[in-house]
Amino acid sequence: MNQKRLLSLFLCMTVLMSSLLIFGADATTLQEDVAAKNQLESQLKALEEERKQIADRLAAARADEAKAQEEINLLYDEISTYQQQLETQSALIAEYTALAQTKEKEINTLNDQMNRNYDLFKERLIFAQESGSMSYIDFVLGSSDLSDIISRSEVISDMLEYDRKIIESLLSNKKSVEKAKQEIEIALATCETKQAEYQETLKIMDEKRAELAKRLEELKDNREVQETAMNRANATKKEIEDRIDKLVQSINSKTQGTYNGSFCWPLPATNPGYFSRGFVKGYHTGLDIHVGGWVNNGKVPALAIAAGTVITCGSFWDWGNLVVVDHGGGFVSYYAHLDSFSVSYGQHVSQGQQVGKIGSTGDSTGPHLHLTLYAPTENGKERVDPMKYLPNPW
Ligand SMILES: [Zn+2]
Repeated sequence: MNQKRLLSLFLCMTVLMSSLLIFGADATTLQEDVAAKNQLESQLKALEEERKQIADRLAAARADEAKAQEEINLLYDEISTYQQQLETQSALIAEYTALAQTKEKEINTLNDQMNRNYDLFKERLIFAQESGSMSYIDFVLGSSDLSDIISRSEVISDMLEYDRKIIESLLSNKKSVEKAKQEIEIALATCETKQAEYQETLKIMDEKRAELAKRLEELKDNREVQETAMNRANATKKEIEDRIDKLVQSINSKTQGTYNGSFCWPLPATNPGYFSRGFVKGYHTGLDIHVGGWVNNGKVPALAIAAGTVITCGSFWDWGNLVVVDHGGGFVSYYAHLDSFSVSYGQHVSQGQQVGKIGSTGDSTGPHLHLTLYAPTENGKERVDPMKYLPNPW
């Protein structure tokens, strides 16, 4: 084994070791992280749709609740107005009842007075017209002369007339008091009718209020259900976003911030070449790409498939002129059998940047690019079929 082979082996071992070190620290591979991130992002998208629907339902539930609340508030105002009116009627009823009682008492007093006067009048009348009692006759016969008799008779008549007038006056008073009492009773009856009406209205309103309160309670429950759903969706969203953040960190740590998840074809689009030998695990661990028609003697540019750092740029017995680019994240690409270099060790290259020109140096039978790609796999890091990552240029 010559020095070049040893160096080549050493290089491979170094790459393998460093990749083992990188992947030993993390249980997941970059591909797993990216797959998990994609899955979470589609979950998040579906969740966003769900959140939108919940938000719509929540807004509708809130509007319904506010409307019902407004309705019940208006009803409370109306109930309060009716209750005030009912109180007014109750106060009026109490007032009229007391007044009617006063009138009743007045009527009773007048009745008593009338009865007394009537009794007195009757007594006098009986005395005057039927009684043979001496005193009255004596009073008349005690007259000194005719004119005196007439005068005394007139006195009796006047006395009777006086009693009659008193009784008539009392009767008239009683009539006016009774009329007043009747008016009060009419007013009282009106108040009582109103009171009954208000009570009936209030009863109906109270039933409506109970109904509305029940409905409001249901709407509140519905709103709370939507709020709970929204809180849950928000918590899930936060959880997914946190997991995505962690995956992004994990992806960034594996790609060292350079590998963006896509590779380009290592030959110019104008001369993409063709396969002369594919990847066969354990036998030919890379791609051989020839340029058809010996374009520029086959010396077409070899391009970095992604941005990265040149970690090897030199000549080896089998590889020939070799450029190795570390893209980060466990991705390392080898460009072998180059005719010449366009880059140097340690240089940063961007995606699609020319690393050299295709040639036939080293263990080669004709100008072609041998491309080997190391990628993170479940086994850590190993050489993979580059076509798993590269875009098909044809
Ligand atoms: Zn090859």
